[in-house]
Amino acid sequence: MPVHSPSRERCMPFMRTLLIISILLSFSQLSAQTVFNGRLTLQDTLFPNDGSIIFPLLSDTIKTDSYNQISIDLADSNHRIFYLVWTDWRSRVFRFTNGICVDTIYDIKIPDDNFYLEFQQKRVCPICFQAKYLIPIIYGLPDDKLIKQAKRNKVVLAGCITYDNSPKYFCTKDKFQF
Ligand SMILES: [Zn+2]
Repeated sequence: MPVHSPSRERCMPFMRTLLIISILLSFSQLSAQTVFNGRLTLQDTLFPNDGSIIFPLLSDTIKTDSYNQISIDLADSNHRIFYLVWTDWRSRVFRFTNGICVDTIYDIKIPDDNFYLEFQQKRVCPICFQAKYLIPIIYGLPDDKLIKQAKRNKVVLAGCITYDNSPKYFCTKDKFQF
């Protein structure tokens, strides 16, 4: 006759909950990691081998390797916001402010104008996510009033040449135009 143990029975739901929690935890660890892996994808062009990764929080830059594979250790909190540059084209700004990214290889599109267009429309800086540091970028021949405003850092004068996706704002905090 089996020994009936009431204390063991009481334990069972607790053990089951513990098991479910540990399974869920191991799944979440599988799908998240602290190293960002990416590769550059250029529109209609072969990979160049002289891209740069810009870390705006550090004002620091590193070159991409010849295969344009990128690994960034997000354990360094200064490396959690970055974008890539090739000639004067830019990728989107990647932000992993909690230091964790999805375990995948990210395709880094250059240029990524649609990304910046969204921030232009929202009028928010893609690096600090704030509006209060933004000043407009003005094209064309400036009058006296605009020249005075530029001297007081209220606007940026950018000359006469504009393109379809010319930047519209400058963030005075991050020294970043978009
Ligand atoms: Zn900013």
